[in-house]
Amino acid sequence: MLYDTHCHPYLAQNKSQEKILQNFFQWKWKYLNTVSVDVLSSENNIILAKKYNWIFAVIWIHPTHVLEYKDILSNTIETLRNFYLNNTSQVVALWETGLDYYWLEKLSMQSGLSQDTIKNIQKEFFISHIRLAKELDLPIVIHNREAAWDVFEILKQENCKNFVFHCYSEDMNYARELIKFAPNCMLWFWWILTFKNAELTRIVAAWIPLKNIIIETDSPYLTPSPYRGKEENEPIFTQYALDVLCDIRQESYIDIEKQVFENSITLFKIKKESA
Ligand SMILES: [Zn+2]
Repeated sequence: MLYDTHCHPYLAQNKSQEKILQNFFQWKWKYLNTVSVDVLSSENNIILAKKYNWIFAVIWIHPTHVLEYKDILSNTIETLRNFYLNNTSQVVALWETGLDYYWLEKLSMQSGLSQDTIKNIQKEFFISHIRLAKELDLPIVIHNREAAWDVFEILKQENCKNFVFHCYSEDMNYARELIKFAPNCMLWFWWILTFKNAELTRIVAAWIPLKNIIIETDSPYLTPSPYRGKEENEPIFTQYALDVLCDIRQESYIDIEKQVFENSITLFKIKKESA
C-alpha cells in the first residue's frame, strides 16, 4: 500500500485531474495528498478531499506566491486557520512553506522589491505558518531552495520539530543536524535521487533511519526516467521512488513499502477508512 504524500493533480497540463485520480484509484494505491500553493487551490483541494475519502488536502501559500499576500498576511493566516477548523477530516498538513532563494532575482524583477525585502517577507510568512501549525498541532511541509541554513535557523528559533522536508536534496551534514534537532522529522525522497549530481542526497538516503523517510511524486513535475520527456508525472508513479530507495539502501521492497506507509499515516494522523 502506497501513499503519494505530495502531488498537485490540478496543475497537470496534458492530463485531466479526473483521469489522474482514476488511474491512481484503480491501481493498488491507498492515499494521496493534494498540495495547494495559494488560497484558491487550498479551497479547491478541500472540496476534492470531501468528494473522495482517500484524498487529503494540504493547504498553504507557497514561498514563490507570498508576494501576492504580503499586505494581508494576518487575514490570510485567519482564512487558512478557518479552512482547517471547518475541515479537520480533510486537511492533514500546512504547506508548502519555507524559503526559496532560487527565484529571488526573477521575483525581484517582477515586483520591483529588493531581494532582501523578498527574503524578509518569505521569512515572515514562514514564521507565521510555523506558529499556526503548532497551534493546530499539524506538521508543516518545508520547501527549501538554496536557503537550507536560513530554514534551519528559523526552525530552531521557533522550536519547530514537527515537519517534513520536501524534495530533500541537502547533504549528510545537514541531515544529521536536522535529525539531531528533531528526531521524528521526515525527509521526503523522490526521483531526484537518480539524478547524476545527487550523489550527496543518495548518501543521505542510504544512511537515514527508515523511520524518517516518506515518499512523494511532486507530480506533475519531476517525471521518473521511463516516462521522462514522454508524459507528465502522476501519482501512480509513486512506486519508482520505492524502487530507487530499495536500490540505494539494499533493503527489501516489502519492508520499505510497509515502513514508509506507516510513517505517512502516522505523520498525517490518517483516520479515514479507504474507499
Ligand atoms: Zn510540490
